[in-house]
Amino acid sequence: MEKIRCLILGSGPAGYTAAIYASRANLSPVLYEGIQPGGQLTTTTEIDNFPGYPNGVSGIQLMEDMKKQAQRFGTDIRFGIATAADLSKRPFRITIDGEKVVEAESLIIATGAKAKYLGIPDETKYAGMGVSACATCDGFFYRRKTVAIVGGGDTACEEAVYLSGLAEKVYMIVRKDFLRASKIMQDTVFKMPNIGILFNHNVTGIYGKEGVEGVHLVKNSGLPNEEKYDLAVDGLFLAIGHEPNSGIFKDYLDTDETGYIITQGSTPLTNIPGVFAAGDVADPVYRQATTAAGSGCKAAIEAERFLSSLD
Ligand code: NDP
Repeated sequence: MEKIRCLILGSGPAGYTAAIYASRANLSPVLYEGIQPGGQLTTTTEIDNFPGYPNGVSGIQLMEDMKKQAQRFGTDIRFGIATAADLSKRPFRITIDGEKVVEAESLIIATGAKAKYLGIPDETKYAGMGVSACATCDGFFYRRKTVAIVGGGDTACEEAVYLSGLAEKVYMIVRKDFLRASKIMQDTVFKMPNIGILFNHNVTGIYGKEGVEGVHLVKNSGLPNEEKYDLAVDGLFLAIGHEPNSGIFKDYLDTDETGYIITQGSTPLTNIPGVFAAGDVADPVYRQATTAAGSGCKAAIEAERFLSSLD
């Protein structure tokens, strides 16, 4: 069976940053790219908030650059998805693509998270053409336009406020008659003159020729005949939660009720020595490329400390 000193799962900013640091520390890291090589950033367009790119950079380019940087220091980057894990003892055993099992002395989990989608077929049709699950990534394209954001939690409120500084009008589409967000976020939303909240509403479809031109809405009045109407918007943002890709580790690692891996304080240490979590899989709050990169760096430094403590 193949033995790996430092195994990294995931190829977003956390995984690649961990790989850059781990390879420079001579940990001979092997990185499996996972289900979406390059991670969530490859699904966005232009990234203007990653330091070092004064003119912005495409998500795909940024991830290509990170990959090359990790390869330059010798990271062994492979296609493959971790499909099962046995973290009951060291070396940890990870199954790749349901077939091959590798043994790892240390493990950095950087498997990320995926944004939840509504499940209506039009979402995929308009992905990158007006439908986005990240206001901080794509809001800039809607300056002085009209947008809608679905959700009533802290993320939706935070993103609605962010969008209200760019767009002319922001509609929040909330399926219940209240916001789930913290009181302070609710108050901030209520104060913004250009945010309108459509309570008891659901999006049932999207329309538009070249991109999003509007959404089909249903207002749940509680009466047998629900009110249906169309709302013209230039962009539709989804903020209905994220799902961390932590399922295969849940029998071993402490997670919160959503499945985010719990780490110790601001470190990437999990409840198992030698297993580290970095990036969105352990971050329900910030979820930025820069914060993920930072935590990947920490994870590699901790892996190095852990491995040298064994020598
Ligand atoms: P939440 O799960 O808190 O909220 C999701 C929202 O989306 C809810 O309003 C929910 O409605 C709605 N929703 C879910 N599914 C659908 C659907 N199919 N159709 C329509 N609406 C739907 O997720 P968040 O991402 O907002 O927050 C996750 C966690 O992170 C929370 O604990 C939050 O407090 C925290 N957070 C903290 C921040 C901060 O402190 N600055 C910033 C951002 C997040 P319903 O209420 O009806 O279920």
